[in-house]
Amino acid sequence: MDSKSISSVANLPTKYGDFKIQSFKEGNKEHLAIFKEPFGELPLVRVHSECLTGDVLGSLKCDCGEQLQKALELIAKEGGLIIYHRQEGRNIGLFNKVNAYALQDKGLDTIEANHQLGFNADERTYDVVVDILNHFGIKKLKLLTNNPKKLEVLEGFEIVERVPLVIEANEKNRDYLKVKKEQMGHLL
Ligand SMILES: [Zn+2]
Repeated sequence: MDSKSISSVANLPTKYGDFKIQSFKEGNKEHLAIFKEPFGELPLVRVHSECLTGDVLGSLKCDCGEQLQKALELIAKEGGLIIYHRQEGRNIGLFNKVNAYALQDKGLDTIEANHQLGFNADERTYDVVVDILNHFGIKKLKLLTNNPKKLEVLEGFEIVERVPLVIEANEKNRDYLKVKKEQMGHLL
């Protein structure tokens, strides 16, 4: 990653605690590292995929917003790093995600809706995540995730522990969480 693709480090005080932020460019995408030092020997790391509807609007269709809040709370206490990975809607983008939601309104599940739009269930890539972890000199870590695929994509790192993010299902996201668990292998 060349230095033009890496921003300065700035302070970001939040209601969860005081963090530092740094942005990383990947083509026309701008990702964010939100971190609290010291990392300690075994930093707690969360790779959070952008979900505007869940993270910002409080959508009950998914568990992203709650997962992000929990990760911020934990990392404010323990130290560590959140990579805010700007691949909205499992990387189909916001526009297509809204179309996928419209298909879900007609009864398709999250995977069927993606397929109908011509996408895979999951279009995410993780190259920039690897670059960001390398930038911070992280080799060994504890990963905050329910998604076993994220353990695979980070196979070049020593993941000493998987820390689950347990979110209570609600009436609106119960079916979505069920698909995540039963068809996408999430450990919920
Ligand atoms: Zn979401």
